Amino acid sequence: NSFDEECDYLFKAVLIGDSAVGKSNLLSRFARDEFSLDSKPTIGVEFAYRNIRVGDKIIKAQIWDTAGQERFRAITSSYYRGALGALLVYDITRKSTFESVRKWLRELREYASPEMVVVLVGNKSDLGQSREVNLEDGHSLAQLENLSFMETSAKENMNVEEAFLRMITRIYELT
Ligand code: GDP
Repeated sequence: NSFDEECDYLFKAVLIGDSAVGKSNLLSRFARDEFSLDSKPTIGVEFAYRNIRVGDKIIKAQIWDTAGQERFRAITSSYYRGALGALLVYDITRKSTFESVRKWLRELREYASPEMVVVLVGNKSDLGQSREVNLEDGHSLAQLENLSFMETSAKENMNVEEAFLRMITRIYELT
């Protein structure tokens, strides 16, 4: 049971982004290797743990999911408290979710630590035929805002591990 394993560090990180971009499915893919076609039914903060080995250290990553609170603009400062990293997620098939990225960055600046490691994630890369946001647009915005960036598919399990690991190893490097 990885929960009981000894760990050297405990990092808190959060998922943010508009509703239905795939935050919970990214988390369930990363934490349990599961994907669901339904949107989640429950409301309320949830989190998951996963232990990651970096060099000879074991990092316990505690990742928080908004669990729908963003729909009511009800994310509070306690959600961000102590968080060292964030995956800021948009949906490549809905331009409006990409346009919201700046709003989420403003919220991070307001509530989160300025040293927070932020990885911008364009999710649903498996839906290329319905794409509304180009790969280059994601790259440019990330460059402008000084963020890491990658496109993922929680459904096809593409780059999900990479996105979380990039955030976690970056946090570790800054520790
Ligand atoms: P959240 O509100 O941001 O947590 O989004 P959810 O994880 O609940 O996902 C919203 C919807 O998008 C659900 O119907 C998921 O099955 C679907 N979804 C999530 N990730 C992907 C993906 O990578 N590809 C596709 N095709 N659908 C996805």
